[in-house]
Amino acid sequence: MRENIEFLMENDGELYEAMQGEEERQRQGIELIPSENYAFPEVLAALGSVFTNKYSEGYPGRRYYGGQEFTDRIENLARDRAKEVFRCEHANVQPLSGSGMNQAVYLGLLEPGDTILAMDLSHGGHLTHGAPVSHMGKLFNFVRYVTDPSDGSFDFDQILRDARKHKPKLMLCGYTSYPRDIDYKAFKTIADDVGAISMTDASHFGGLVAGEAMANPFDFGFDLVTTTTHKSLRGPRGGMILCKEKFASKIDKSVFPGLQGGPHMNAVAALAVTLKLVQSSHFKDYADQVLKNSKALAEVFTESESTLITGGTDNHMLVLDTVKSYGIDGKVAEETLDEVNVTTNKQIIPDDPNPPLRPSGIRIGTPAATARGMKESDMKQLGSWIDRSLRSPSDKKYLQRTRMEITDFCRNFPVPGLE
Ligand SMILES: *Cc1c(COP(=O)(O)O)cnc(C)c1O
Repeated sequence: MRENIEFLMENDGELYEAMQGEEERQRQGIELIPSENYAFPEVLAALGSVFTNKYSEGYPGRRYYGGQEFTDRIENLARDRAKEVFRCEHANVQPLSGSGMNQAVYLGLLEPGDTILAMDLSHGGHLTHGAPVSHMGKLFNFVRYVTDPSDGSFDFDQILRDARKHKPKLMLCGYTSYPRDIDYKAFKTIADDVGAISMTDASHFGGLVAGEAMANPFDFGFDLVTTTTHKSLRGPRGGMILCKEKFASKIDKSVFPGLQGGPHMNAVAALAVTLKLVQSSHFKDYADQVLKNSKALAEVFTESESTLITGGTDNHMLVLDTVKSYGIDGKVAEETLDEVNVTTNKQIIPDDPNPPLRPSGIRIGTPAATARGMKESDMKQLGSWIDRSLRSPSDKKYLQRTRMEITDFCRNFPVPGLE
């Protein structure tokens, strides 16, 4: 892999320089965006392999092109491993991204105009859960449920009333900005009550389910789980649809030929190796550590009397109300932390009065920092840097000194795949 990069230096200096710059950025800063991670080195190797060269429209044993002996083998490996890791009956490993994966589910199982009950976007739902600006938001009728921002709880009585009133064909849980776990049992009971298909979008926490640090929706009888493969799972960029056998044929047809052409077989190869690596005890320790680190970081903010949405965390992320805590909006908070080489992202908070590009909070997550080997004591140190920086966004001297301290600190934690 490193040789390939040297080879680029000779043939495309401009590209090589940008790549070097990104490597340095990843080394010298701390990545705390909850959806980001460092792929396993094996993933980088598989992505740059000869599977990049191959067209494989169709599925193993039923392809539209010849020469599929080895692509069939890797796709079967990926599918079988996915079923084993997530304890489910069927897996489609071809979605090119998380967004396409959710679109494939909606378009494959529903008719335009059908109702989907999903989490309110400002309470943590994802764009693909029917944001008005998304095509899916226009094509389907999304009805919303909310959580109580003080403790993150769902009002299941209200959700049941809404479900009975709106009769959704699909009930969707899962989130992009919510720091608690989900009561799958209560959710599934309501879906059964109204005869809705039950789906979890586990894009953020798929790796934590795989590592057995968080609950698996299939253990509660869910029909479908979708997950991106590049977030907590540490695989290639892409998506995966896991489901009961009774939905298998509709899902497969919806992904191909419904929505996509040829799958990216280099990504399928990389996913296959990811799904082997996540079965190791090493990965289970990693998943546990992600949660421990998240809790340790939350304690710093609790001690400094900052405002965390829901008051804490049960997963890999914190949502910090920066307006209430520090009197600055999420954009200023994100930019301040950028100055000290800490990467986070501005985030709308429940019922945010401010616009999405100047929202009232930031999200902070531990999957990437944990992949570099950081532990609870490192989180304490990091948390105090963050808290202090956000208290003094215009103290350039302090920010400059902290940036240097953080760059030094980072030398103790090699970036997977780079060293
Ligand atoms: C990240 C994410 C997606 C979309 O993934 P992309 O690969 O960015 O398209 C979908 N759903 C949820 C909940 C996510 O967090």
